[in-house]
Amino acid sequence: MARSHVYIVGAGFSKHAGLPLQSEFTKALLEPRANECHPMRPLADYLGKFVHDAFDHKKDANAKFWPSLEDVFTNIDLAANTGHHLGHEHAPSDLRKTRRVLLARMIRMLDERFAKAESAKDADWRRLDRFFQKLNTKDSGFISINWDTVIERKVAGLAETHSIDYRCGALPAVFPSKGNVVAGHQPPDGKATIPIVKIHGSVNWLYCDNCRQLYWFPMKDGLSISMQLITGNEADSLNLHDVSGCAKWRCSNCTDVPLTTRIATFSYLKALDFPMFERSWLSAERLLRQAKKWIFIGYSLPAADYEFKHLLKRIQLSMSPPPEFVVITGGPKSATESVYRNYHGFFGRGIRKQENFFRNGLTAKAIAAAQE
Ligand SMILES: [Zn+2]
Repeated sequence: MARSHVYIVGAGFSKHAGLPLQSEFTKALLEPRANECHPMRPLADYLGKFVHDAFDHKKDANAKFWPSLEDVFTNIDLAANTGHHLGHEHAPSDLRKTRRVLLARMIRMLDERFAKAESAKDADWRRLDRFFQKLNTKDSGFISINWDTVIERKVAGLAETHSIDYRCGALPAVFPSKGNVVAGHQPPDGKATIPIVKIHGSVNWLYCDNCRQLYWFPMKDGLSISMQLITGNEADSLNLHDVSGCAKWRCSNCTDVPLTTRIATFSYLKALDFPMFERSWLSAERLLRQAKKWIFIGYSLPAADYEFKHLLKRIQLSMSPPPEFVVITGGPKSATESVYRNYHGFFGRGIRKQENFFRNGLTAKAIAAAQE
């Protein structure tokens, strides 16, 4: 069924649910350092050592001294993917481990932040609740640039039950209490299905490298997913306390193959040539083409997303009539000015400062314009 409204959401959208913007990610990743007993502390220490070796900072250097995560991921990817070292100590297999440690810590961090915001329920949280309560779920679809599960969790909190469809062939599954093979799970039939296309992957997805099946898991299972990224041997070498869930879960078709994640990280070199990404991108194209209104929330249209921007441009130019736009952003005036310039420069005169560009986040006025 065609959706008249498509919401294209970036990190600024998830910020309403307590999640960090990209520029604040490093600080959030390193939070376990402040707590001796934090289960993820060994991962933060391991990452500190890597940044010491590769970027010449103290092992306990504060987040503000770290290189950008784009630089970290891009250098890991360019070396590891072509079979090269990054300095004496970091062979390709070590780099792949570092990448997985980074992802494991990220998945947990996103979970921690969401839980904290859920208990605090500040003004931003309530604005996001209002946005979802007013959402016409039958006419709406989402394209998310993020890997977090804020949309899914908010949809689950709606009074009416809904099922979600990632539109990339992902099967709903659960981690059973016995054994180590994931089980298919049909969520209860919802009255409406909400398409949520995630063009960079999702933290609740696991992938089988053998049969290429993608599974998605309930949002509350972040811990199981993050531990899946670390093998038992690696957990030992990292001095992780709880190693029971390490690389535990197996595909239900190939019961001896451990499942893995596929997330397109902050790297400039996004690994998008996997079947679920191909399908997600085609689904994004379909949603955009069929919608009459494109609503951007908390997404700055950065240069690094050139492939996605080309998709948007290509579809905009082939639609008649062209899509209507609404852009909702937030932050200090200088930041919102630069977002305005990005959008106006890219899409042209369809972006009108006084009319469809909202710079104060999810205000009642912005929500009304988006959902109109
Ligand atoms: Zn398989």
